[in-house]
Amino acid sequence: MERTFLAIKPDGVQRKLIGEIIRRFETKGFTLVGLKLMNVSRELAETHYGVHRERPFFAGLVDFITSGPVVAMVWEGEGVIASARKIIGATNPLNAEPGTIRGDFGVNVGRNLIHGSDAPETAQQEISLWFKEEELANWQPSLLSWIH
Ligand code: ADP
Ligand code: MG
Repeated sequence: MERTFLAIKPDGVQRKLIGEIIRRFETKGFTLVGLKLMNVSRELAETHYGVHRERPFFAGLVDFITSGPVVAMVWEGEGVIASARKIIGATNPLNAEPGTIRGDFGVNVGRNLIHGSDAPETAQQEISLWFKEEELANWQPSLLSWIH
């Protein structure tokens, strides 16, 4: 089953949006398999956002992600990678559609509340960067067979 890595960034945590954000993925029908509130080291932040290392916003992005607790999560379900990106909305909250997390709660591209993996390869890399295998839950398939 497909998995993705999502993280509620420090702005989402500070604005008390953890429950609201998790609710959207739960009610959609995805399954939570990993969850932790944590402070992020500079090393982890720089690795996670390594693809953006040369961008002018990189230093500010790393400062921000390390500035306060983050909720790191792994979610599972059919098509969860692309679906989560839709639920999250466009990178710049001003361009994000109402009904999406960024469209409903954000205005600033540097404070866009949540991260979501963008493809199967990055999802796999990010899950193993942020979580140890034993931190991920194993749901009995029979417990999920009646619900999606
Ligand atoms: P996404 O999070 O939608 O996948 P990107 O991978 O393009 O977006 O960028 C990673 C993160 O870097 C964004 O979520 C945002 O926090 C930050 N970012 C992107 N572009 C800018 C920008 N122009 N100014 C400030 N921060 C930015
Ligand atoms: Mg991205």
